[in-house]
Amino acid sequence: MAEAAMGEPAVRLCVVVPCYNEEEVLPETARRLAAKLSSLVERGAIAPSSRVLFVNDGSRDATWALIKELHADPARLGVEGDAPWFEGISFAHNEGHQNALFAGLMRALDEGFDCAISLDADLQDDIDAMDEMLEKHRAGTEIVYGVRSSRGTDTAFKRGTAEAFYGFMRWLGVELVSDSADYRLMGRRALAALSGYREVNLFLRGIVPALGFTTDKVYYVRGERFAGESKYPLKKMASFALDGITSFSVKPIRWVTLLGGLSIIVALAMFAYTLVSLALGHVVEGWSSLMVSIWLVGGLIMVSLGIVGEYVGKIYLETKARPRYIVAEATDGVAHDGELRA
Ligand code: UDP
Ligand code: MG
Repeated sequence: MAEAAMGEPAVRLCVVVPCYNEEEVLPETARRLAAKLSSLVERGAIAPSSRVLFVNDGSRDATWALIKELHADPARLGVEGDAPWFEGISFAHNEGHQNALFAGLMRALDEGFDCAISLDADLQDDIDAMDEMLEKHRAGTEIVYGVRSSRGTDTAFKRGTAEAFYGFMRWLGVELVSDSADYRLMGRRALAALSGYREVNLFLRGIVPALGFTTDKVYYVRGERFAGESKYPLKKMASFALDGITSFSVKPIRWVTLLGGLSIIVALAMFAYTLVSLALGHVVEGWSSLMVSIWLVGGLIMVSLGIVGEYVGKIYLETKARPRYIVAEATDGVAHDGELRA
């Protein structure tokens, strides 16, 4: 189309795909990505040196073997064309989706790509939305979010909990882009800004909007997972949500203080009531009220301690400043052993 005629050199794109036990979908994802990149190159929307970077997040299945195969001999897995699209790095351990994403994005930055698009491996994110993301980036937008125009394929439970979570975060004052997951384009400047975030508990959906820069949205319909099952069971989802809250807001700690203040007021009121009753000659019968208040206050104290503890735990993890991930192997053969970005 017209893009190539504008005279500007086409951007070098790096598509970052975190993969955890994705052997069932990976070949299909690769085939579709290869077709997409070829057509984008043909139209001059991206440079031929664009790449797909798979980040193997310590998978226990054949995911890494497949990635190496895609790098060495993509035709064997049915990928058409002979452009060498695929690169991969492999973690020594499962470090979680956010760390895998971060590692891929930082590598894209280090290797001089102009922009990166992060994408789930399971084909739930519509690959065709990349065209519009790139157009917007070309027009000068630094960060382009993929936003789901419908969540029809998610279960009612997932939709409900997601809505509650986004609402709660907004109420805490954290800026999140509703209905966007981790499908987004980031330009070099945004990636460079992101590299300055040193927290161990990464919550990219909160960090990226906080970077600033010009942003835009591209709407797409989120499909079903192509194959395999979700790698986000309820427990992981809950801890991800908790991470989001505690990484971005200390308001819950303030509520603890508030709660303490409230119970002191209640206690004072009860004390006053007792004094008045005594003065009037009544004896206050106390068993049930005592039990209720002891348990209530006990519960409040424990919940409060728990909330504070959550933050203390976080401080503990952050102060250790351990590497977020260790790259054990990479398709480009460069020794990245022990690579870390702390
Ligand atoms: N993923 C990962 N590490 C993990 C869990 C998930 O790299 O520990 C990847 C996974 O392979 C997929 C993406 O993160 O590419 C999103 O995971 P999934 O599709 O299972 O999440 P859902 O769509 O169910 O929320
Ligand atoms: Mg998915």
